[in-house]
Amino acid sequence: MKQVEKRIVRAPSRFRNALPRYAVERTVRCIRCGTCVELCPLGVHEIRPGQNLVTSPNVERCIGISCRENDFFCVAHCPMEALSISENPLLQTLGDRRWTPELILSTWELAETGFPPANGKAVEGGDSGGGFDKLRFRWKREAPRLESLLEARINLSVRLNRRDRGPERSIGLPLYGGGMSFGSISLPTMIGKAGAARNMGTLTCTGEGGYPDELVPYAPWVITQVATGLFGVREETIKLAPVVEFKYAQGAKPGLGGHLLGDKVTPAVAALRETVPGHSLFSPFPFHSVYSVEDHRKHLDWVLEINPDALVSVKVSTPTDVDMVAVGSYYAGAHIVHLDGGYGGTGAAPEIAKKNIAMPIEYAIPKVHRFLEQEGIRDEVTLMAGGGIRTAYDAAKAIALGADGVVIGTAELVALECCRCGNCESGRGCPRGIATTDEEMSCLMDPEWAIQRITNLYHGWKIQLMEILWRLDLDSVEELRGRRDLLFHEDYQGTR
Ligand code: SF4
Ligand code: SF4
Repeated sequence: MKQVEKRIVRAPSRFRNALPRYAVERTVRCIRCGTCVELCPLGVHEIRPGQNLVTSPNVERCIGISCRENDFFCVAHCPMEALSISENPLLQTLGDRRWTPELILSTWELAETGFPPANGKAVEGGDSGGGFDKLRFRWKREAPRLESLLEARINLSVRLNRRDRGPERSIGLPLYGGGMSFGSISLPTMIGKAGAARNMGTLTCTGEGGYPDELVPYAPWVITQVATGLFGVREETIKLAPVVEFKYAQGAKPGLGGHLLGDKVTPAVAALRETVPGHSLFSPFPFHSVYSVEDHRKHLDWVLEINPDALVSVKVSTPTDVDMVAVGSYYAGAHIVHLDGGYGGTGAAPEIAKKNIAMPIEYAIPKVHRFLEQEGIRDEVTLMAGGGIRTAYDAAKAIALGADGVVIGTAELVALECCRCGNCESGRGCPRGIATTDEEMSCLMDPEWAIQRITNLYHGWKIQLMEILWRLDLDSVEELRGRRDLLFHEDYQGTR
């Protein structure tokens, strides 16, 4: 996809009290001698001009306990022993084992700066005790310096059309943004996703709630989704789309369809979905017009009749026969098979569905990859994997297992300061203005800030992906596909 020139600039937290990693406390013993102000090079302590007070510590700048190795460690030099530093206890309330507090904070940092942490301590994943969190790469060489990496010619692009018909189309990164509908997320969130896709030469997806007018300027980078509810599906938006995605199932809730509670069906959402405000909306499961590969093909023909220039993607969840589904999609004419695993979904997806129905994506990818190889059609279809890709490391592991690229969702929301509270669907929705359609709550986020944050996240991941390929001694992401020999499981070191 064409890329518009991007600028990576800092996009700090939009909240006055960002959640810091450390708590810095100054007790009443402080005599305002100013020692800590002079010592700390990071500006944690300040005396404002014209004031005789040391301000409340700028805790988000503090590097924490590890600072004790520095000769400027304020705690050690305070003559009144008035300072202390500890882990912020609030972190214990943040996230879960897949999205640990460390991972959330590091994603926020990437989205703020656009670069991986300079200390080389990137957070690779979570602490779930399985899956991507137990897979490790067999590195071939040490990480390079950032300057060398930026000069290296490492190709991250992925071809979306491998068939002998239809337009050639590639994305500049092995990832694109997954579908989240207007209804499940706010308009500024959608614009943030679309603007970042434009900036980085990749794609985003409307989800199934229709195509808001505000997305039209980003049309070359926006996938239109056609899902079972057919909400907001229009010929004119199919004509705009570089890729049309049929959503047959969603990994976070396979077999359950979609459900948007009435509180989130505002007049704007209802207008786009051609329905009534305040009423809950169901997307049924499955498409009742599709029970065979031939029916599937009719769907694709219908889209290509409207827009012969579109590529067609088929989004499926990961039942045990997902390999057969993928082959069927290929014979129906799909250019892209999008496997959606069970770890994704916003807080709106029921836990019981997320944890108990679909196959973990780490099993589904190699199963489909191998079956497509056996059928002799692996190089005629692009395999994208989503549903729980949290970091550039997860992305690279998914590709090493056999995907061509990945689809991301939750990580984009975390870049916008989602704190994983799980309130996405209830009441007016997200307290942070991300997964809401309430007009006032949506104003909590400036769309330009959202574009910059997600652009920064993608840029940080791009550098991390280049570093991963460098360390594996590979020149392109295509060379990584299916290289399971480069991975090992932490619990079974050395085995394959
Ligand atoms: S611990 Fe170090 S970084 Fe933190 S406030 Fe003190 S001097 Fe600054
Ligand atoms: S912060 Fe918003 S998007 Fe994130 S989990 Fe909570 S409600 Fe959902």
